[in-house]
Amino acid sequence: MKKFILLIFIPIFLLAYKVDIHKWGNKDTFYGFLKQNSLPLSIYYNLPPKIKRYVRAIPRGESVFILKDNNIIKQALIPINSKQQLQIIKTEKGYVTKIVPIVYETVTKHVSTEINNYLSYDLYKATKLRSLASKLAYIFSDRINFRAIPKNTKIDIVYKEKIKFGEVKDVKILFAKISNKQYNISAFLNPYDGRYYDSRGKSLKGMFLAAPLRYKRISSRFGMRFHPILHKWRMHDGIDYVNRIGTPIHAVADGKVIFRGWIRGYGRTVKIRHKNGYITMYAHLHGYPRGIYVGRWVTQGQTIGYLGNSGLSTGPHLHFAVMRYGKWINPVRLKNSVKVTLYGKQRKKFLAYIQNFTKENSIALK
Ligand SMILES: [Zn+2]
Repeated sequence: MKKFILLIFIPIFLLAYKVDIHKWGNKDTFYGFLKQNSLPLSIYYNLPPKIKRYVRAIPRGESVFILKDNNIIKQALIPINSKQQLQIIKTEKGYVTKIVPIVYETVTKHVSTEINNYLSYDLYKATKLRSLASKLAYIFSDRINFRAIPKNTKIDIVYKEKIKFGEVKDVKILFAKISNKQYNISAFLNPYDGRYYDSRGKSLKGMFLAAPLRYKRISSRFGMRFHPILHKWRMHDGIDYVNRIGTPIHAVADGKVIFRGWIRGYGRTVKIRHKNGYITMYAHLHGYPRGIYVGRWVTQGQTIGYLGNSGLSTGPHLHFAVMRYGKWINPVRLKNSVKVTLYGKQRKKFLAYIQNFTKENSIALK
């Protein structure tokens, strides 16, 4: 447990108070936390069932804020998800609890570096952030092959850090430019729709992702095949992607979840309806993340399930299928088939935004 005494930024009347930031460890439990700090166990029993479920699953490494006066807890803040925290306050009538929003500090930073070794290694060296490289690779994945990136490739990134108790909790890329002798590609986060576009308003990704997951290999393509379990010739109306159980599966496009459940043969399945008459289906799943249910809107790249082996399946894989106007189509045909370009009012708003943004952050586009 880290302990420090705040002297400078806290008003005079708080001088006798002490602030602890406790890092939630592997063996920590909410019940144990109450006991250790001589807090009444009724705090736990009186929580609504949903909050109880949250506090029983506080992730390791979360920071719990504790304010003490002569070793008596005056206030504690316990994060229950990325947006909310449980506040425990001592009042004259005893301890009361409340759910309050988490307040983050945000800092915008600019990094400019060259790729000499690996993208992830060089970016980590320059920023000390582990997640930046994968976020960058995701933005440019339809345009750049990061496995064969030329020497002396320059990377510029403007990103926003979300900070809590001095720790970076999340990072968002606002702008990125990748340039070398062969190409010069820029990406701006459009604040109006959350997608990345180049400086002319052309989306860096098509309406559909090239694949709904990172996979090791494709074990079966779209078309007629001899079925490995049924031992009959059958139409295989999707693509089978092989990887480990638990690999995150992403929605290939924005859309609405229209099915989540068990289908005979397919096992655990998610179906999403998209614009222009498309439906995508993800089958043989191991499970679903919290918040994926029928009626829910999802965005391109959002995790909607985990790779599994449920239903009629010979090994862990994802069966990915695409339907258009009621007919199965070859998912390969989706790849970059529908480009997203901003038009009219949306384009005007976006161009005004990036003009302002490039000036504010002194970015040179060429
Ligand atoms: Zn299949």
